[in-house]
Amino acid sequence: MVSVTLTQPALSTLSLPVRKERILVVEDEEDLLELITYNLSREGYRVSGVTSGEAALREARTQLPDLILLDLLLPQIDGLEVCKLLRNDRQTRHIPVIMLTAKAEEADVVAGLELGADDYVPKPFSPRVLVARVRAVLRRRGSAVADKDAPVRIHELVIHPGRHEVLLAGRPISLTYTEFKLLHFLAQRPGWAFTRGQIVDAVQGENYAVTERSVDVQVAGLRKKLGKYAGYIETVRGVGYRFKE
Ligand code: CA
Repeated sequence: MVSVTLTQPALSTLSLPVRKERILVVEDEEDLLELITYNLSREGYRVSGVTSGEAALREARTQLPDLILLDLLLPQIDGLEVCKLLRNDRQTRHIPVIMLTAKAEEADVVAGLELGADDYVPKPFSPRVLVARVRAVLRRRGSAVADKDAPVRIHELVIHPGRHEVLLAGRPISLTYTEFKLLHFLAQRPGWAFTRGQIVDAVQGENYAVTERSVDVQVAGLRKKLGKYAGYIETVRGVGYRFKE
């Protein structure tokens, strides 16, 4: 009998994912902080945790983490204020932020996204969901400089920004300028929820006033043209819209 031991080192390498990204976790509930830290460390991230907004700002400025997980309900300086201060600081402006929110904080979610937070995870969440969101935001940030004119292919859709053309299941569909911009904007970041305010900023045409209310009208028109694929544009209750992931 020959015993094979050569696979051992390879296996141990596989079981210990090595990621270099540093994540700052801001959460005043210590049990939860510990749970999050444990799960992200296990994924290979370098994690540090703090329990207050003040500490979060200090750590963010000195460590410049790759991503911040930010609980909204914190003593003294709350999460929204932390988010605002991070965005107003040239050094920390570009650090992605994922908010941790409670169900009652829907209005805060909207405010947070408009302040520049990248995403949010409602409590209670499973560690797997949290890890997936962290990975997704880091990945999106990595590809944020991708060519804006590159075709977007997702589900049955192909969007050619350069040609201003949309193919749905292989057939061209005719969209207005605003509908096109709206679809392109959402489809570039599937799964990512945007507020009506963010959508207005993104799709505002040259001589076309887009109001928050008219976003709903545009979405309704777009869904109609998508027909049986209307579900690609999902309504995020209390927040806005997102493209189906
Ligand atoms: Ca809290």
